[in-house]
Amino acid sequence: MKSPENSLSLMTRKTFLRAAAVFSANALSLEMGSAQPPTEPLEKAASEPSPVTLENAQWQLGLKPGEGLKALVVHKPSGIVLAQGDYSYSIGTPSFGEPEERHDSKTKTVTLKGAIPGGLELQHEFKITADQPWVEEQITLSNRGTAVQALPYGRCGFVLPVTLEAGAVVGPMRDFKVTAVPYRREPNGNRTQYADYTIGQVLSEPRSSRLRAQTLLERSGNVVLTAVHGSGFIQTLYPFYASEGWILTDGRRGFLLTKYSRHGMEWALLDRTPVDEGRAGFRWGGFGIFQGDPEHGAWLAPQQTHRFGITRITAFEGGIDEGFYTFRAEMETRGHGCPKGFNPPVHWNELYDNKLYWLPGMDLPENRKKYYTLADMKDEAAKARDMGCEALYLDPGWDTRFASKIWDESRLGKLKDFTAMLRQEYGLSLSLHTPLSGWCDPSTYSRTMDRMNRDGSRVEKSLCGASAQYVEETRSRLEALARDGARFFMFDGTMHNGECWDPEHSHRVPSGREEHVEATNRLARLVHAKYPEALIEMHDQLLGGTYLRYVPTYYGQGWGGRGEEATNSAGFDSVWGFELMWDPMTDLVGGHSIALYYYNLAYSLPLYLHIDLRKDNAHCLMFWWNASTCRHLGIGGSHTDPQVRRAQKEAMATYRRLETFFKAGTFYGLDEMVHVHVHPTEPAAVINCFNLEDHAVNRRIEFALGKLGLEANGSYQVKGATARRTEDRYILEVAVAGYGHSLIELRGA
Ligand SMILES: [Zn+2]
Repeated sequence: MKSPENSLSLMTRKTFLRAAAVFSANALSLEMGSAQPPTEPLEKAASEPSPVTLENAQWQLGLKPGEGLKALVVHKPSGIVLAQGDYSYSIGTPSFGEPEERHDSKTKTVTLKGAIPGGLELQHEFKITADQPWVEEQITLSNRGTAVQALPYGRCGFVLPVTLEAGAVVGPMRDFKVTAVPYRREPNGNRTQYADYTIGQVLSEPRSSRLRAQTLLERSGNVVLTAVHGSGFIQTLYPFYASEGWILTDGRRGFLLTKYSRHGMEWALLDRTPVDEGRAGFRWGGFGIFQGDPEHGAWLAPQQTHRFGITRITAFEGGIDEGFYTFRAEMETRGHGCPKGFNPPVHWNELYDNKLYWLPGMDLPENRKKYYTLADMKDEAAKARDMGCEALYLDPGWDTRFASKIWDESRLGKLKDFTAMLRQEYGLSLSLHTPLSGWCDPSTYSRTMDRMNRDGSRVEKSLCGASAQYVEETRSRLEALARDGARFFMFDGTMHNGECWDPEHSHRVPSGREEHVEATNRLARLVHAKYPEALIEMHDQLLGGTYLRYVPTYYGQGWGGRGEEATNSAGFDSVWGFELMWDPMTDLVGGHSIALYYYNLAYSLPLYLHIDLRKDNAHCLMFWWNASTCRHLGIGGSHTDPQVRRAQKEAMATYRRLETFFKAGTFYGLDEMVHVHVHPTEPAAVINCFNLEDHAVNRRIEFALGKLGLEANGSYQVKGATARRTEDRYILEVAVAGYGHSLIELRGA
């Protein structure tokens, strides 16, 4: 007999009912969430399926299938109930058969299959592991009928009945708030924007978010023109609260809710559903079609099946920060982390000093001849070497036509010679801007790769990013560049041009967002199959280079596993830093760049960003912020003030000396302005302290060594701050100049 904590055996109905009573402060039962009379007995009728319970040290999940499903989710250590009563189905009520159980060493899986009138079949899979603090759920829908099933508003989920008084939650969830992860700060949000909500808000208000769309205003004197004039309807208020993950916490304990899918874009959704007169239902988990995604789950052809993503609820101790770290650990175990020993070359980007990009009507052939010559690139390579960079990054201008991705020999000589020259004369590797179908001059591509309208006509010079022909041609061009020495590709121009109806393109007809995003991800895997050492940076695969984010950050990253992809190689290496490259100082002081801080709490999957050094100050505030938050860093632009240039060069020397901490270390946030980077293999850490105020401040920084993964009893030399030690804690005092930065080093003595 296993210990009760590890027992995954099916509890008897009696034990289950007793457990349910034990974990409840108010005599809960599976029935209470429903509108049915509470006196209804929980007796199993002869024809009814058996109730079943999954349990580990953290969770108890009670399920009673029948006509629909009654579900109870209890966090055992606190007795907090997260779901109770009728599971919610917007697509009709399934009639479930007998549960199937599978035991696999420490893991127990329960499968419920139910038919829904009208031809749908719904399958639930619930999973619990003895020594993990989570429960998982996954839904599969199958169309067993002969007609198409359209489910554009499909939504299923657990329901927590909640009593509200004056808009506020009463009961054990009273002090809980929900926080979006990773985009607690949206990259276009200011210093007051936090994606934090009360449960009362989720139950009663639409979510306002500018993560995937924003209404821009054009001002000309007193005249204001909104962007809808050019773009059509823009949505920023959503009935669903959608995020890669949600942290529910009262500051002492919490629950992380995530949705993870590799085949179809999905988000963890929070919303509401009626329960009874006195209570509202807080709905989570299950699946939901959010603005049409996942597209392949929203419309099911006859005999088609769609498996939705995995919902996981994980218990953790602590508040929002611990919730973020729980998310980061989950994504790392799913394969979306920082590779061991990650050591990308620091880029020098020629764009900021290159007149080509800043001229009106910039990228004309005559301007390329004038401003993008071999001599110009040698000048930039000299600057790169002088600043201590490791690679020269060429932004628009190096290819035959914008985004042709064909090296322009007429201006720059042979690529092989160019990369040899960079290596031998400047000690640099070569990195390239390689925009895709959404931002390009498509003249060098065949017009058969253009998108097709429904009537069979072409959308002239609008490439279909999902077409097999386009992917194949682009792969071959990228491989030619890699063969001759290019070591980094930036997948910019990833915007979705729109649907395509060409049956010759080897994609679903019409193709949608999913086909475009999937093909973009596939391209990275195809290049890696032949050139695994090439680094590939990925912009948002739908919106491109923007302050916005649509596609789930991890989507298409990591190793491909599906047989039909036939490219079982690594996906992209880094995520684009949300276009915070043009005015990084304003972005930082205004609050946009604080999105990078939260990103690092949520993901060790590297960010790539290059920044315009011309916008920095003598404290190198902007340089250090981006060095601290972007594991792959690029810089460029010569500051007009020689004193600032000198300071930047010194900062770069320090950065290079400590680069392992920043590129491959573990990031901890003590707060938005204090970032700790723990060395991946040595007992050492560096701390970046920032000050966004206009006056100097003295910061008192207190931390427990153990919480940062450092030896709690170890002794450390501290450089850059006065330090006091109390048992396992350090208390540091450090002065930080107005709009300034201070660096502290900790080394095991
Ligand atoms: Zn197409």
